[in-house]
Amino acid sequence: MASIDLSAAASPEAVAALNEMLFAAQDALRLALGRRPGLWDAALEAHLERAFAAYDRYRAIVEAAHPTSCRAGCTACCHDNPRGVTGVERRYLSALVDGWEDAAAIHARFRTLAEQATDAESWRRKRIPCPLLQEGRCRAYDRRPIACRAFVALTPAEWCAPESENYAGRVNPHLDPPAVILQIFNALSQHVGLGGPTDLHRGLS
Ligand code: SF4
Ligand code: SF4
Repeated sequence: MASIDLSAAASPEAVAALNEMLFAAQDALRLALGRRPGLWDAALEAHLERAFAAYDRYRAIVEAAHPTSCRAGCTACCHDNPRGVTGVERRYLSALVDGWEDAAAIHARFRTLAEQATDAESWRRKRIPCPLLQEGRCRAYDRRPIACRAFVALTPAEWCAPESENYAGRVNPHLDPPAVILQIFNALSQHVGLGGPTDLHRGLS
């Protein structure tokens, strides 16, 4: 098993990026709490975009110091069902999907997958692509949830696939942001009437 060195995740630059993510999440919650429950608009979405942008800076800082195997077109991890997707993340993602001509078919596909729900490891071994995966790319890349953004590989990309003989030795750390940020996302989700976290299949059903 390869060792995990993610010391850059605690560097001042990385902490500053996570702080910016926290501030954006707090600003969104403060704005929402000052208004009637259930209201979601572009101003809230802008704060969420700020939070995602700050998270992406954090991930880039970590990857610069600890190169990962993740590349565009590499999709083993998109044959999965990301867990813990908060309501506001689902809303942000759905707002894009719902503008597509095939939106109904995409949601129907998510519904079909949700009906086959199983534990994470069994699901991974089924090798069913995420409905948002198309020609090796995520169609909603800029709006993908933190659960997707946080997944990286320090071992070779081929090892991420369950059929690899090295699968058991893969090192896939989750670059999760501090729990308090997802707690704020959840509080915001509750206030705007979006419910608790779910897996992606159920969330986009
Ligand atoms: S986690 Fe694995 S499958 Fe996903 S992009 Fe990175 S190397 Fe590729
Ligand atoms: S939402 Fe995008 S990044 Fe996440 S699993 Fe689906 S295709 Fe992959």
